[in-house]
Amino acid sequence: MSLTVCDVAPRDGLQNEETHLDPETRAELVNRLAAAGLPRIEAVSFVNPARVPQMAGAEEVVAGIERQDGVVYAGLVLNEKGYDRLAQTGLDEAHFAFAATETFNRRNQNASPGESVEAARTIVERAHADGIRATVTIGVSFGCPFEGAVDPSRVLGYAADLAEAGADEIVFADTVGVAVPRQVKELVSAATAMQPQPVGVHLHNTRNTGFANAYAALEAGASVIDASVGGIGGCPFAPRATGNICTEDLVYMLHGEGVETGIDLDALIAVAEWLEGRLGRQLPGQLYRAGTFAPVAG
Ligand code: ZN
Repeated sequence: MSLTVCDVAPRDGLQNEETHLDPETRAELVNRLAAAGLPRIEAVSFVNPARVPQMAGAEEVVAGIERQDGVVYAGLVLNEKGYDRLAQTGLDEAHFAFAATETFNRRNQNASPGESVEAARTIVERAHADGIRATVTIGVSFGCPFEGAVDPSRVLGYAADLAEAGADEIVFADTVGVAVPRQVKELVSAATAMQPQPVGVHLHNTRNTGFANAYAALEAGASVIDASVGGIGGCPFAPRATGNICTEDLVYMLHGEGVETGIDLDALIAVAEWLEGRLGRQLPGQLYRAGTFAPVAG
């Protein structure tokens, strides 16, 4: 059994850090993650730097990446303008994201979720014409800070529209870290039964359910999980959201469960140690402080 772990620390992680890293250091983070065997890295976000100063200089970050064979380098886009920038850089994959609720999506995209599904359709078409993979992430799939509980049938309706639009993968994001495993199991298993495309989850550990949710996603048939090295991150637009689930903590669990990731766990721990130095604070991840261990003999 194998699973694709996508490290989103260079994007979702760093965009919520008080310490702003320069493009050169951000490119070094991407290169260190690739060297540790990460199969996919969300390296940058093509957003307005006035709004998210941590992500300024996305093009410089991409220029500093030393491409490794077999690694998919992705960037986040929120509209066609962002996609135009991504297409110029030669990245492999576009991650388009929008929110499942009206209020959250209006605040961040100035559009209704239905309008964003149409924007996704355009970006998927353009990406495919350019030979770029297109993944679509549905934010606040499990709960919204403004509207509360989110009806799973509404989220699955968007997933069906995106599948029909030809998205290469659909990711359910727990943007504010409220999900419990029962919800993750429900959405992931319904989506995998409904569509041929791979299904992923993007998890935050805000309420300490992130790893239980990752395990539930794995059991329900998810093939991609987003995580961030050191567990850094959050969302500047989501009140009180804390970091993504920590990549090395996730990989420790996956390897112990016999799931192949292609990641060198010791090398990944070294990336977390390096990042702690760059950010000048202890990171939320636990494995890099506790040390690894072989849970299964032999
Ligand atoms: Zn996130």
